[in-house]
Amino acid sequence: MTHYLYQSQNWQKQLSDLVTDPAELLELLDLSSDALYSGAVLATEQFKLRVPRAFVGKMQKNNAFDPLLLQVLPHHLELEEHAGFVTDPLGEEAANQLPGVLHKYKSRFLLTLTGACAVHCRYCFRRHFPYQENLPKNDDWPDIKQYLGQHPEINEVILSGGDPLTLSNRKFALWVERLESIAQIKTLRIHSRVPIVIPERVDDEFISILKNSRLRSILVVHSNHAQELDDLTCSKLLSLATAQITVLNQAVLLKGVNDNADTLVALSQRLFEARVMPYYLHVLDKVKGAHHFDLETDKIDALYTQILAELPGYLVPKLVREIAGENNKTPLYGHATF
Ligand SMILES: *Cc1c(COP(=O)(O)O)cnc(C)c1O
Ligand code: SF4
Repeated sequence: MTHYLYQSQNWQKQLSDLVTDPAELLELLDLSSDALYSGAVLATEQFKLRVPRAFVGKMQKNNAFDPLLLQVLPHHLELEEHAGFVTDPLGEEAANQLPGVLHKYKSRFLLTLTGACAVHCRYCFRRHFPYQENLPKNDDWPDIKQYLGQHPEINEVILSGGDPLTLSNRKFALWVERLESIAQIKTLRIHSRVPIVIPERVDDEFISILKNSRLRSILVVHSNHAQELDDLTCSKLLSLATAQITVLNQAVLLKGVNDNADTLVALSQRLFEARVMPYYLHVLDKVKGAHHFDLETDKIDALYTQILAELPGYLVPKLVREIAGENNKTPLYGHATF
């Protein structure tokens, strides 16, 4: 067992000093729109505003259409009802086997260690998910272990969210040690948006926890726009690659945020500068409150055809949709041509 010095870190201060008041967010950005403000106040009741200051710092001032702002500012359109947009589009409540465990695909399962995220993304498919009733407690570990024993086909555990990197290094290391103790587990995957919104979270201690583990580590970050990837963020991501940790990115295709080919091309190119490989480009999950981010199928098709033509194959993310009950994420491109 390796021992680390668990110091209180700058990133933890950032995590406890988030912007949660729409008035403050608009003021920081020199936006004085009453309409934006009143819409934000209404929509924040369903799903709170939550955004780190470092992420606000990447937004353009005085631009109500800033692609980063649009992802986090509550909007009155979220309150509209639309056919087909529901609270649990992926049927996750039904797939819940044990507290914190979501096992939908054969070789890997999701383990939710915390319901908290550093940022609240308005389009999130988990915005209505009852996390707090569904977290593993320390006493639940034997049950999870037993579940793994009954499912020898599982060789990868995905720490997901909420966001697992809101946990302290101490707690994170405890779970890594637990998973390491199970011989069948070979790969540890972490799905997190924190490295994008609070890049300092990628500290030396975190890197050494992964580097010193017998598990192969993959970090899948979530960035939707090159503007999220400033120099500090890229240098932190690069430090993971230097430590031989695989870093991938998943993005969500969002109307008004990244729905044009130049934006998607720039995102892939910028990720690669930090040695991050594009992994998935998700079509929006039809979650209640996110209809205004949705794109028409024709538009998605045209966009994807264009980025395929512009990028080398290794920088093209896989276009996928998650369909409840399927064995994997469903690829969306090219099927009709067989
Ligand atoms: C998305 C997801 C995974 C990971 O799928 P990959 O295609 O391996 O990235 C695993 N489990 C659940 C429940 C998921 O939703
Ligand atoms: S789970 Fe991911 S997409 Fe959803 S709010 Fe948290 S960080 Fe955003």
